[in-house]
Amino acid sequence: MHDQLTHLPVAIIGAGPIGLSAAAQLLKRGFTPILFEAGNQAGANIARWGHVRMFSPWSYNIDDAAATLLKQQNWPQPAAHEFPTGSELLEQYVTPLAAHPEINPHLHLNTQVQYVSRLNHDLLRTEGRDQAPFVLRVSSPEGEQDIIAQAVIDASGTYQTPNWLGTHGVPALGESESTEAIAYGVPNILGSARAQYINRSVLVVGGGHSAFNALQDLVKLADEHQDMRVLWGVRSTSVTNVVRSPENDELQERRRLEVRIQKLLEQGRIEVFTELEIDTIQRKNGKLMVQSGSKALPPVDRIIAATGFRPNLNLLAELRTSLDPATQSPIRLAPLIDPNLHSCGSVPEHGLAELSHPEPGLFILGIKSYGRAPTFLLRTGYKQVAAVVSALGTPEALTISQTFTAASAVTTCQG
Ligand SMILES: Cc1cc2nc3c(=O)[nH]c(=O)nc-3n(C[C@H](O)[C@H](O)[C@H](O)COP(=O)(O)OP(=O)(O)OC[C@H]3O[C@@H](n4cnc5c(N)ncnc54)[C@H](O)[C@@H]3O)c2cc1C
Repeated sequence: MHDQLTHLPVAIIGAGPIGLSAAAQLLKRGFTPILFEAGNQAGANIARWGHVRMFSPWSYNIDDAAATLLKQQNWPQPAAHEFPTGSELLEQYVTPLAAHPEINPHLHLNTQVQYVSRLNHDLLRTEGRDQAPFVLRVSSPEGEQDIIAQAVIDASGTYQTPNWLGTHGVPALGESESTEAIAYGVPNILGSARAQYINRSVLVVGGGHSAFNALQDLVKLADEHQDMRVLWGVRSTSVTNVVRSPENDELQERRRLEVRIQKLLEQGRIEVFTELEIDTIQRKNGKLMVQSGSKALPPVDRIIAATGFRPNLNLLAELRTSLDPATQSPIRLAPLIDPNLHSCGSVPEHGLAELSHPEPGLFILGIKSYGRAPTFLLRTGYKQVAAVVSALGTPEALTISQTFTAASAVTTCQG
């Protein structure tokens, strides 16, 4: 890091658990964080799935540096082996951390980061680039502002950019016109969204744990309301390929959920449609007609798209990132997490080398660092933060960023 920049704050985009952990770890090392949160509360993305029970216990969900700060405030530390819901994670950890007197003065709620660049340097301009501070365009009810920072940690998550139902990665034909009958993510079927699902035919699409949660809740609702129909569509040739994490899965709650789904399938409570490749969704007589190639599914009232999330990379478009073309994660992290290569949830330890970009001082951390890969755990994210924060301002961080330039020099055009 250039000496002239070290007096500047380190900007953090997003006050989820990872952004807050970054703030706590930066403070511990004597840096000044400046933390921007688009929502009206810290953990705004988690608030959207607050009703879901997490499959990782408290011992995985709390960052050590954050816990040290919280303990100064007589924080009642949650029991390590218990599994919180998203709402409990907020109430018992994220909210008190955001309110902590050392963190709170640096936190700006209702403040969205719109663009990040380097001062007086658009993407193309190289000369003097490494010495230029970052500039963040932020927007809040008070208006727009440019903020100058020595480094940027993008921990803005992925929950706001869900994948489409369309099999080609773009909206299925007709999907964009049907979104009022489609829930992206994990709706609160037994709570705030209940009225939308009572006595309806509902298709859940996706093969991950969000789909399992939705299916489980729909079957519970169907126990009370006989006119419901629960349909499940997966890309795979068989659901046994989907509900299959190993018996010795270190996350017992995840395994328990799978066992529950297996039982519901055996009981015939869920109608399964395999090899689903949705290309068209049409509205007809108030129903959604889903087409997968030549196959038409039974008409449904609602669809739950539990099809995963993707990172919003627009705000980093003026920075020199190096992302894997498939997962959209930092390129050196991708081989460790690519679901085309790995099926398990465990990811090898990784640090600065895997999280750096050709742009020194820029780091994408937390669930956004996994791009489209679905296996992120908070425990991994806290280790990412520790690796990055401990290297900030050291020559090591700059050297690793420069290795990207060296690699690209090898392929320089000779003609
Ligand atoms: C249903 C469900 C269950 C899950 N269960 C688990 C589990 O059991 N264990 C586990 O470890 N993980 C679980 N996860 C993954 C989980 O989402 C994360 O581990 C955690 O929320 C990631 O934290 P994060 O800080 O990286 O991102 P987030 O929590 O998504 O936080 C990102 C923050 O950035 C803000 N933001 C976004 N864009 C901007 C912007 N431009 N400017 C300013 N702020 C912005 C958002 O409002 C948000 O508050 C689950 C996810 C889902 C959807």
